[in-house]
Amino acid sequence: MFYKRLILITLVAFTILLLFHASCSNQSLGNSPEAVEGILDLTQSQLDEEVIRLDGQWEFYWNQLLEPAELKETSMRWSGYINLPASWNGYQIQDQKLPGDGYATYRLKFKTADNSRLAVKIPRIFTSYNLWINEELVASAGTVGKSRDTTIPQYLPQVAFFEAQQDDNEIVIQVANFYHRSGGILESLLLGNEKQILSLHYKRIAYELFLFGSLIIIGAYHLALFLFRKKDYSLLFFGLFSILVGIRTLLVGERFLIFLFPAFNWEVAHKLQTLIFYLGLPLILMFFKAIFPHDISQKIVRAVQVVALGFGGLVLLTPAKTFSVANPAYQLFALIVITYIVYILVKVIPRKETGTGFIVVGALILILTTVNDIIFLSVWMSDYSTPLLRSIIRSGNQSSFGQLVFIFTHSLALAQKFSLALEKEEVMTEQLQEINANLDTLVQKRTYALEKSRKKIQHQKNELEKSNQILQMLSLKDPLTGLWNRRHFDESIKIEWNHGLKHKKPVSLIIIDIDHFKEYNDFYGHKAGDECLIQVALAIRASCKRVSDTVARYGGEEFVVIMTEVRKNEALEMANILRKNIEELKIPHNHSSVNACVTVSIGVASIVPKINAFPNDLFLTADQALYEAKSQGRNQVSSK
Ligand code: GH3
Ligand code: MG
Ligand code: MG
Repeated sequence: MFYKRLILITLVAFTILLLFHASCSNQSLGNSPEAVEGILDLTQSQLDEEVIRLDGQWEFYWNQLLEPAELKETSMRWSGYINLPASWNGYQIQDQKLPGDGYATYRLKFKTADNSRLAVKIPRIFTSYNLWINEELVASAGTVGKSRDTTIPQYLPQVAFFEAQQDDNEIVIQVANFYHRSGGILESLLLGNEKQILSLHYKRIAYELFLFGSLIIIGAYHLALFLFRKKDYSLLFFGLFSILVGIRTLLVGERFLIFLFPAFNWEVAHKLQTLIFYLGLPLILMFFKAIFPHDISQKIVRAVQVVALGFGGLVLLTPAKTFSVANPAYQLFALIVITYIVYILVKVIPRKETGTGFIVVGALILILTTVNDIIFLSVWMSDYSTPLLRSIIRSGNQSSFGQLVFIFTHSLALAQKFSLALEKEEVMTEQLQEINANLDTLVQKRTYALEKSRKKIQHQKNELEKSNQILQMLSLKDPLTGLWNRRHFDESIKIEWNHGLKHKKPVSLIIIDIDHFKEYNDFYGHKAGDECLIQVALAIRASCKRVSDTVARYGGEEFVVIMTEVRKNEALEMANILRKNIEELKIPHNHSSVNACVTVSIGVASIVPKINAFPNDLFLTADQALYEAKSQGRNQVSSK
C-alpha cells in the first residue's frame, strides 16, 4: 500500500519536473536570421513573439578596447568578421592564429522595424566584458583590462534593457581574457522583448533553485539515512554526490551564486566547479560498487580514485589557466569510466534483482546528461564546434536534472527494497507469533512422541533379551528329548568338578546306553526309535528328583546324569532305580537278545576331584564301567 502510494507521488513529482524542464529549455527560440558582415536585419522578425539569437558575423577588433564613440571614427582598424558564438582561439589574422589570452572589441548593428523597449540576455562571456547598446553602457562583468593584472574575470549571465531605435541599433562588447584557456563569446546573446527575456531568465533561475533545493535536501536525507544504517555505503556516496551536484547547479547555468555574491572570486568558483566534476566521478563509481559489489572491480575503483585525487590536487594547487589545460584529459578519462559504468549496468539488467530496473533507467539518464555537460564544457565545444553540435548541446547544466531523475528512480528502488523487507518481516513476525502460541502444545506433543518411542525401544530391548535367553537355552537343549545337550553337559561337569575340588566333595557320573538300539531302529523304524528315545529320556528325568542333578542326552541313545556331592553307593542306587524304571516302561523290543522290551546298560563312576585330575577322567571311568556292563550281558549296572 505504502509502496504504491510512494510510486504515485514520485510519478507526479517527476511529471511536474519534466514539464518544468521542458518549459525552461530553449525550444521557445525561433529560427533566427543570421548576421551578415556585422549587420543583422530584424525588420521582418516578430520581436514581440520570438526571441532572437544574435548569431552570425560580428565585427571584430583584436587587441583593441574601443568604446562606441571611438568605433565611429576608427572603422578602419577592424580585424575582420568573427562568427559567433565561438571562442576567438584560432581566429586567423594575417597568418597568425589567435591564442586564448588577449582582448578585443565586438560590434553588431541590427535593424528593427520600430521603436520599442527590448532586452538582451547576456550569457557568460570569457572572462570579462563591458557591453553597450546604442552607446549606453548597459552591462558589465569583472574588469576589462589589457593585461592579466588589470583584468578581473567574472562569469555573470544577466539581462540588459534598452530602447530600440527604428532601423539602426548597435551592440558593442569589450572582452578581455587572461584567465581561461578560451576567450570570447562562446554562447549566444538572446534578444527579445522585455517580458520574454525576463521570463526566460526567471524561469531558468527558478528551475535551477528548484534543482538546487531538491538535490541538497535529498542529499542530506540520504546522509541521515546513512547515519542510521552505517553499513550501507551506497547511501553515503549517493548523499554526497547529490549535494555536490546541487552546489554545482548554482555555479553553472544562470550562476545564481555569482548573482548573490558578485565578489565571489572567479578562480575559486572555477576551482569549485571543476573539483565537483573531478570528485563526482569516483563517488558515483563507488556508489555503483556499493550497489553491485560483485560486478565492479575494486582495482578499477582504486584507479579512478587515484586519478581523480591527482587531478583534484592539480585543481587545488594551480590556477585555472594551468589546470584547465589538463581538463580535456580528465574529460576523456570520465567518458571511459562512464562507458565502463554503462557496461556494468547493461550486464546487471537481466538479473532482475529488486530495484535494479529503476536504478539502471535513472543511471542511464544521469549518464546521458553528464556526457552532455562534459561535451558542453569541453575544448572541442568552445573552440571547434559545428552548428549541428551546438544545436544538440545547448547548455552545460543538464546533469543536475539527470541527477534529480536518478534520485527519483533510486528512491523508487529504495522504497521497493524497504517495502519488500517490511513485508518479509511482517510474514516472519506472524509465523513467529504462531509458533510461540503453539509452542506449549508442540513441546507436549514432542515429549509424548519421545516418551512413546522410548517405551517402544525399551519393549524391543526386553523382547530381544528374552529371545536371546531362549536362543541360548535352545543352544543348550536337545531338541528331541528336551533334556540338556552335550554342550551343557560339558560345561556342567567342569563346574561340578571344580565345586567338588573346592569343597572336597565327591562327584558321581552315570552313563546310560540303550541296549541293541540299532536293531530297534532297524526293526521299528527311525520314527519309533525317536519315540523310544523320548520315553527313555522322560523316565530318566522323572527318576532324578534332586534339583542339583544334571540330566543330559550325551548323543545317540546315550544319556548322562551328573550327581554332585553324591557318593558311589548312592549313585549306584540311583543307577539301579533308573535301569529298573526304564525296563518297567515295557517298550517292546523283539530283536533284543537281552529282553523282550527295551533295556539299558549303565556305567557308574564316583571321584573326589583332585588337583592333578580332570573331568574327563571321571567320564572315562564311567565309560569303562559301562563297557563292563555291556560285556557282562547288558541290562545291568556296573561301577568303578
Ligand atoms: P549296544 O547294545 O552294543 O549298545 O548296541 P547298539 O545297537 O545299541 O549300539 P550302536 O552304537 O551299534 O547303535 C546305536 C544306534 O542308535 C545307531 C543309530 O541308528 C541309533 N541312533 C542314534 N541316534 C539316534 C536318534 O536320534 N534317533 C534314532 N531313531 N536312532 C538313533
Ligand atoms: Mg551306544
Ligand atoms: Mg546301545
